[in-house]
Amino acid sequence: SLSERLSAVAAHLPKSAHFVDVGSDHAYLPCYVCLQDPSSKAVAGEINEGPFRSAQKQVKLQGLIDRIDVRKGDGLAVVAPDEVKQVVVAGMGGPLIASILEQGKDKLGHVEQLIVQPNIDARALRKWFQNNGFVLQKEQILEEAGHIYEVLVAVREGKSIYHEDVAVREKELLFGPILLKEKNEAFRAKWLDYKQKLERNVANMQQAQHVDEAKLASFKKELIWLEEELN
Ligand code: SAM
Repeated sequence: SLSERLSAVAAHLPKSAHFVDVGSDHAYLPCYVCLQDPSSKAVAGEINEGPFRSAQKQVKLQGLIDRIDVRKGDGLAVVAPDEVKQVVVAGMGGPLIASILEQGKDKLGHVEQLIVQPNIDARALRKWFQNNGFVLQKEQILEEAGHIYEVLVAVREGKSIYHEDVAVREKELLFGPILLKEKNEAFRAKWLDYKQKLERNVANMQQAQHVDEAKLASFKKELIWLEEELN
């Protein structure tokens, strides 16, 4: 069965989805979606030979070769400009996912929905959405096997959910405007852990000979936010 993490990603796709899963590895996600919904189809993209072969093997095994096209290539280079309606990129760092979207911009013209699952630095994606005409629509944070994952969904149309105040917005970009309102258990666990790391970092920096003052200031600002939000 599919991991909770990938099930959470899959759950955001609409019925009759036509999507690309970039960095599909074993193609577990598109196989799961296409088995559940006979009207959906997908492209599974992989840059590396090993995972590309695993994807091909899995798609064959599940009898899905007519609905899941496994393609080898970098990011969104595997799809044509008008080909898919949804884009999924999961299990990579936020900055890498953002660079995949940035480099594949010419393929996003007809894309209605982006579903991303960054392992670190979701802020990089919130910023990318803002700067590129996508509206953050949903956010989820969940824990599985001791790891905490975030899933973000962005669409083309809709009202911005960020606060008008720039200072508040800056905070929302880090924590996630929706996640910050909910503050569930996974959210608290993630940020409590981060806070402890940050406190150690700041203490070490304050004892060091040469201090990156800008970095120290930004860490201190984050610590204030964390104190405000984790009570
Ligand atoms: N998406 C799957 C998941 O969430 O379980 C697999 C995640 S795995 C950690 C990352 C995969 O992305 C690897 O199989 C890697 O080969 C692939 N990958 C990394 N950079 C890529 C790129 N620029 N284009 C396509 N695939 C990429």
